[in-house]
Amino acid sequence: MVSTDPDALKTYGSSPNSYHPESPHSVVVHATSTEDVVKIVNVARKYRIPVVAYSGATSLEGHFSGEVPGSICLDLSGMDKIIDINEADGDLTCQSGARWEDINQALKDQGIPLFFPLDPGPGATIGGMIGTGCSGTNAVRYGTARAEWFLNVTVVLPNGRVIKTRRRARKSSAGIDTTKLFIGAEGTLGIVTEATLRLAPVVPTKVAMAQFPDVGHAVSAVQEILNTPHGPHIQCVELLDDHMMAAINAAGLVSKAYPVRDTLFFKLQGTPAAMKEAAGAVQKIVKAHGSDRFEFAQTDQEAAELWENRKYALTSTITSGGEDAKVWTTDVCVPVSKLPQLVYETKKDLAEANLRSTIVGHVGDGNFHALIIFKTDEELQRVSDAVHRLVHRAIAMDGTCTGEHGVGVGKKEYLVEELGVETVELMRTVKRAVDPLNIMNPTKLYPDPKDEDDKNSH
Ligand SMILES: Cc1cc2nc3c(=O)[nH]c(=O)nc-3n(C[C@H](O)[C@H](O)[C@H](O)COP(=O)(O)OP(=O)(O)OC[C@H]3O[C@@H](n4cnc5c(N)ncnc54)[C@H](O)[C@@H]3O)c2cc1C
Repeated sequence: MVSTDPDALKTYGSSPNSYHPESPHSVVVHATSTEDVVKIVNVARKYRIPVVAYSGATSLEGHFSGEVPGSICLDLSGMDKIIDINEADGDLTCQSGARWEDINQALKDQGIPLFFPLDPGPGATIGGMIGTGCSGTNAVRYGTARAEWFLNVTVVLPNGRVIKTRRRARKSSAGIDTTKLFIGAEGTLGIVTEATLRLAPVVPTKVAMAQFPDVGHAVSAVQEILNTPHGPHIQCVELLDDHMMAAINAAGLVSKAYPVRDTLFFKLQGTPAAMKEAAGAVQKIVKAHGSDRFEFAQTDQEAAELWENRKYALTSTITSGGEDAKVWTTDVCVPVSKLPQLVYETKKDLAEANLRSTIVGHVGDGNFHALIIFKTDEELQRVSDAVHRLVHRAIAMDGTCTGEHGVGVGKKEYLVEELGVETVELMRTVKRAVDPLNIMNPTKLYPDPKDEDDKNSH
């Protein structure tokens, strides 16, 4: 199906989750098979037209905007079939438009005690998750979108050929890992149409919560917990700062209000006995790091209620901003030991810029998001400036401009500063070799030469 309806073109070229300039595509084409994708890529190559993959549309850095006049938006969200489940081997093959939540629901519905543990935004798809190199709350236990979780991918290359990067074996050292090439490539090297995912066993979980006098104490507790033999029982550990706890209390979406303190929410996993033991160890450690309040949910109902605090973080922040408030979600990551300093400096900076914000952090990985509230264009400009300062601060701490959301258009100006000219040039060399006509999502990921000139002149 093909659409040139102006409203559709606008929708497909913009995102309610991103405040980068919007630009419509010239046409939207809906694909349902690898063969469809090949046909579209062949047309794009023949007429030198940019083609931009679009799947769950939950990415946050302007990843799928039109940018270049004449672009084709290739909607893969209809390619959402699960093709094969190999329960005994613990893997599943699907089309790239399948959503991670639907995959997990399908496994549950079929009584298969396995799941796919990467958990980015609601509605995200396997293709987009590969494209952005995503992760989420489970990363502390299960890691990020790396080739360990993608046993192989089927890709339509810019030359129209179809490749499958590996077979279904759990591991392989058959040369360069070409699956990796497409992870974090943001649709600039090829369009993923199918993938085989490694699955993990579903393990019983329980939720715990601890409150701290400040972020520094909370982070040092997390570092100690993860380095004990109980570390592998921690599935998630999320930091919600005092502003976030205030916003959650005010929004009233959760069953119980908590004191406005910097707070950690844990998901523990294992057998009931192992979780009980781990919870005891966690309680001891958080207490030694200044926590005066620890709760361990005894029932599934209590666990669900406690975790609702994490679940409603974004909604509560938006609500706290009042009518017409919008939220810019930042994403940087630093070595965990640097996280408290980064959080303190950022909160001070945001306060000085007269901006309201909350913080939620995948604290076990040193990754955090400041959710900055704005209403007017003038405030938006101040937010954008504050984000710029935050990114520089994170890179100066040996961190990264993006822990999980990817580069899109929003972060490409920082790549040379973070990675160096030669590393970025290696990325470009790969891009030029695979896509010499630059038809796949041009203008995303790779820095503009202007950004590099600016960097070199410093
Ligand atoms: C409320 C909310 C919470 C979020 N939380 C997290 C989080 O915890 N962790 C996290 O990592 N992210 C998070 N995100 C961001 C987002 O969910 C991820 O970036 C996700 O991986 C994007 O997947 P998608 O299917 O929506 O991709 P899209 O937005 O459709 O596309 C993303 C990029 O991948 C490319 N692409 C899409 N499909 C393909 C394909 N088949 N082949 C090749 N390239 C392709 C696109 O061209 C684009 O460059 C959140 C977003 C929201 C809105």
